[in-house]
Amino acid sequence: MLRALTGSEKMSILESLAEAHPLTPAAVRLKAALLFHGVDYDPCPGRAGEWAFPSHMPITLLPGEPLHNGQNKFYTPQLIRFPDDTQARLRVKRESRFRIVDGDGDRVFTLLEDGKPVTSLTFEPKLPWAEALTHDGTPMRASGLVQHGDMLVLNVAPGCEYFVVPKVGMAGKTDNMSCTFCLYGVPDPQRLDALGQKLYEAGLPTQTLDRVSEACHHPETHARHLYLVGGSMLSMAAEGERYLQISRHLAEQGLTDRYYVACGSGAIERGHMEQMKDAGVRGACFNLEVWDPAQFARICPGKNATVGRDRWLASLEEAVDVFGPGNVMSAFVGGAELEGDGAFRSAEEALESNLAAAEYLIPRGIVPTWSIFWKVTGKARGEESFYTLDLFLRLNEATAALRAKAQRFTNPEFFCRRCAYMELEPDFDFSQFYRSSNSANSSLP
Ligand code: SF4
Repeated sequence: MLRALTGSEKMSILESLAEAHPLTPAAVRLKAALLFHGVDYDPCPGRAGEWAFPSHMPITLLPGEPLHNGQNKFYTPQLIRFPDDTQARLRVKRESRFRIVDGDGDRVFTLLEDGKPVTSLTFEPKLPWAEALTHDGTPMRASGLVQHGDMLVLNVAPGCEYFVVPKVGMAGKTDNMSCTFCLYGVPDPQRLDALGQKLYEAGLPTQTLDRVSEACHHPETHARHLYLVGGSMLSMAAEGERYLQISRHLAEQGLTDRYYVACGSGAIERGHMEQMKDAGVRGACFNLEVWDPAQFARICPGKNATVGRDRWLASLEEAVDVFGPGNVMSAFVGGAELEGDGAFRSAEEALESNLAAAEYLIPRGIVPTWSIFWKVTGKARGEESFYTLDLFLRLNEATAALRAKAQRFTNPEFFCRRCAYMELEPDFDFSQFYRSSNSANSSLP
């Protein structure tokens, strides 16, 4: 049956965003729109998956969609790269109004909205290190290293102890106190064995650190930042020891000279930060994830019970003393507080709480960053909570203004447009630098 189109249906998503968010640069609106709406399935990103850096999870075709090389499950590229160097995570979301199709040239594609061309783009390619072997024949991609644009992420202890907190007086029984949105820290025994990680033990095998250092040494990583992450430990002191061991190993190998190395652990003690700084680590990012105290306790029970919100904040401030302003960040999951039992009741409440985080942290030299909450657990996985794209852009506009007011921008040495694929802060700050410096870079909005 025919029906009249509503005003919003007549407008493209990008036109609506331009009207509602004129202060957000066009490149940032496009990135946010893709992060939120994804792209409809088309076989061409599947073909690109053969040379591009692959997504974490394979895509599964729906009945009726033509097989890819005879397979109904395969990897698509992980990262889109636009001509102006803006980067975004590729998300296939059927029935999106966006679609990526073949473009003019090798590895060049066209983004369409409602069938109309928007821009050309490419995908971040697999780099030679990811195909190489270490001296003992281990694939470098299995050494605990992944890459997001120009950032190498080193994770040699992925198992998070919050998933298996021993129950007091009940030998062998554990509680799951993991963050409610998290899947990647699940202690998978095969993965832990391959890297030699032992739960509740800080130390890591030298062989593991040698392998991952060899991968970082590869001449063709094209990376500038090296970000150390891992699952959390139940003891702040033990976690600090673990990151110190990794940092010293990297320093001995000269890698703290080659890369801007940052510690992405949980909150750790000042003494460990100081020793890491002495080893050449230059920044820290302790992710609080959620600002509101009650929501933090609900969503991050392990962090809340083990460290506590007040100690976490104190640790971030100590990190500013040790590493200096501009070298400390804390990541938040935008919208996590709107999901599940005990959630905030309105998106406005979530926005207010997140802005309170920015108002507290930015003047103290800590840059908060927000990624869009993609639901990967539970029945409604793949769906957004009622956190909207509009809210995400309003949050980012307000926090960009706060950074500008305090002159506390994201530090491109640490976190930049070539590595931020789920966050918008470096894109906003880059544009603000452009405006204030009157640079002649014509590729920017
Ligand atoms: S601390 Fe939370 S987010 Fe980090 S790995 Fe553990 S459960 Fe996941």
